[in-house]
Amino acid sequence: MTKSLLSVAILIWIHSVSALAAVPTQAMTFVTNVSTVGTTSSQEAKIQSAENKIKDVIASEAFRTAVLNHTYNGKKTFVDNGGLTNAQIYQKILHGAETLQPRKNNAMDLIVKLYYEASSTVGYTMTNSKVINMNTKFFNKYTASGVSSNMMHEWLHKLGFKHAVTYSKSRDYTVPYAIGRIMGKLAIKY
Ligand SMILES: [Zn+2]
Repeated sequence: MTKSLLSVAILIWIHSVSALAAVPTQAMTFVTNVSTVGTTSSQEAKIQSAENKIKDVIASEAFRTAVLNHTYNGKKTFVDNGGLTNAQIYQKILHGAETLQPRKNNAMDLIVKLYYEASSTVGYTMTNSKVINMNTKFFNKYTASGVSSNMMHEWLHKLGFKHAVTYSKSRDYTVPYAIGRIMGKLAIKY
């Protein structure tokens, strides 16, 4: 090997090592434990595909960067962040300690229940329940990436993050809305 080839090889090696080092191990080992209620086999397949996308996105450098660099009004922060920095929010996601299942098990623990309602509600969840409810009026039209975005939004409520009930521009910058959107955008790539 010539000297220049060797240095190129070393540069590539350094580059790959630093890229690996940027994403914490917990991002790569993150899993989903999702059980379902009221699903048909095709709805089940869509949820499974959404789960795979969630795992791939959380393992990605793009997700880490998007969460850490999220800004609101020119500051690196989220609205309704519960007093947490972007880095702490990212870490909280990787821990996967839901309010009702507080063990740090590095997993998204969820029960997805499908229901139908002729309303504009895409989904909802209650603080005292492990269930997230998804309206089939929307669910059936969504791609798996759209479902992954929706599941992420609702699961962030399970981690304790909140947002205003009525719409305001700042609501888009809350943890469930902003990170749900990041998930939907990156999920398309997987
Ligand atoms: Zn919400």
